[in-house]
This record gives sequence, structure tokens and C-alpha cells, in this order.
Amino acid sequence: MQIAKLQKLCKSLGGDLIALSREQYDSKHNKTFYECPFARGRLGLDFTKKKVLYADEPVWTEIVHEMGHVFARKKAPPFTKEWSFLGVGVRGVLVPGRRS
Ligand SMILES: [Zn+2]
Repeated sequence: MQIAKLQKLCKSLGGDLIALSREQYDSKHNKTFYECPFARGRLGLDFTKKKVLYADEPVWTEIVHEMGHVFARKKAPPFTKEWSFLGVGVRGVLVPGRRS
């Protein structure tokens, strides 16, 4: 249910949320998308095509994080200031309105 809602939201923003088989995911790994480092090999994104890709059992909160990269940032994940773009300061304290 959560996944269907997130996919609908991705599409409304001009992107998509796509389920891949384990074989599809592994064949794309490190070739066409950025893999989420904390999602245990099951979540990634294609930044230029605005697509969040997952395999196996996705965790919706992790998908929302990747959607932040795809839809809220102008730069791909390696070129963003990961710890500040969602308003989290260097000590992990939430700073409303703070952006990188
Ligand atoms: Zn991230």
C-alpha cells in the first residue's frame, strides 16, 4: 500500500518508483544508478531519469530518503552535502529550513 502511494507520487513529480528483480538490480549495480549505502543492496536511484529502483522488500522510509535525492536536489548523491540537505546539522540536530 505505501509503495503504491509512493510510486504515484513519484510519477506525479515526473519520475518513477520501479521494482526490479534481483537479477535486474545486480546487473545495473554500479553501472547505471547510485546505490543507497544503507539499504543493504536493495535500493538505488537513477538521478538523471528521476527513478528510484528497488529489489526485494523495500522499506518505505528509505524510499522517501531516495526521493529526496531525486526530486529535491539539483545534484546527484555523491555531490550533495548529505547531512545538511534534509535539515540535519553536523551533530544530528534537526535545523528547520537549513539547506546545503
Ligand atoms: Zn542519501
